[in-house]
Amino acid sequence: MDYASLASEYKETFNAEPQRVFFSPGRINLIGEYTDFNGGHVFPAAISLGTYGAFSKRDDRKVRMFSANLPKAGTIEFSLDDLSYNEADNWTKYFKGMLFELAKQGKTIDKGFDLYVHGNLPDGSGLSSSASVEMLMAQILLDAYGQDISRVDLVKAGQLVENDYLGLNTGIMDQFAVFMGKQDQAILLDTNTLKYQYAPVKMDGYVVVIMNTKKRRELTDSKYNERRAQCEEALRRLQTKLDIQTLGDLNGDQFDENSYLINDDILIKRARHAVVENQRTLRAFDALQNNDLSTFGHLVNASHISLHYDFAVTGTELDTLVETAWQQPGVLGARMTGAGFGGCAIAIVKESNVDAFEKAVGDTYNEKIGHPAEFYIAHLADGSHELTK
Ligand code: ADP
Ligand code: MG
Repeated sequence: MDYASLASEYKETFNAEPQRVFFSPGRINLIGEYTDFNGGHVFPAAISLGTYGAFSKRDDRKVRMFSANLPKAGTIEFSLDDLSYNEADNWTKYFKGMLFELAKQGKTIDKGFDLYVHGNLPDGSGLSSSASVEMLMAQILLDAYGQDISRVDLVKAGQLVENDYLGLNTGIMDQFAVFMGKQDQAILLDTNTLKYQYAPVKMDGYVVVIMNTKKRRELTDSKYNERRAQCEEALRRLQTKLDIQTLGDLNGDQFDENSYLINDDILIKRARHAVVENQRTLRAFDALQNNDLSTFGHLVNASHISLHYDFAVTGTELDTLVETAWQQPGVLGARMTGAGFGGCAIAIVKESNVDAFEKAVGDTYNEKIGHPAEFYIAHLADGSHELTK
């Protein structure tokens, strides 16, 4: 998709030329899974798949939106005078939620808009389409309305849409990756302090392949909340003797020496994942800084093993993709990415092996699971931005 195709789709819907076109990416997380609510580090990147928005400002206070991905929902309208949550808003709740959360901070806009949305992120795949659309709104507020607010504050507003406006228990990684991404770079983010550093990802003939289970992540919300509660309970038990704020304050040795305090097999496993995954994420950042893709790959594999055995969030579909990927030539590493149970995995694959890789993993997956997987190459891309004509 490009400016011209978006403009013509907009014209079919709204009978006029759009004034501007914006793009907001999806994200993958290279490593650092389920560390975000444990005061640990995450290491995500924005990708070249995402959500486009063709936009024109209106003269009144009306907002009208249409999504090419959800055409049955039709054109949805609301007024800037009432930004409260309303069932009828359907998917536009993410946009309205941004306007609502920012209005609460005194950042209002005076004129409405028409917006035509078209995304190419696979549906329900855990590549964070919700953060993508939230931050599409944020970019429009910066560029088309000139709102005076920092990018990081917009990231926080995006998280508030999910936590406050929609009542979902999610961390800040997704919005951060989507809005702060840079081409060919990943972001090491300390979720405790929001300090972040970019790491160049020099792939030297390798690419990141996204492998989609095409399995909806039905269980994700309840299991996610359960894992959160388990980590919190483990932390509480450690805190009876240790002066720590989060699991991310411990290294692996400190954890081993004190895990007897937790005194429960399951809770020890959950907490161990959070602690060691955080350490692995820091080592993965160092490996990339040193251009050591091979070590990076091993850490990626170890992350999956830990998510399988200790955190128990993988499932047959993700395990089949990842374990089959490990057996293929030219693969440096593979793991699930995102919340797990379904959604996507990633593999670091030698470019010349990609076709054979997709065929081999695809055939095994189809045979074992009974429906085909999908594969995409992930180019690490810039965060949300305006498209030039
Ligand atoms: P994820 O963020 O993992 O992709 P979510 O369930 O959090 O999954 O968010 C998906 C929701 O975001 C969709 O159900 C829809 O409401 C909204 N959404 C994402 N992309 C689009 C789009 N292109 N057009 C309309 N709505 C979208
Ligand atoms: Mg989401």
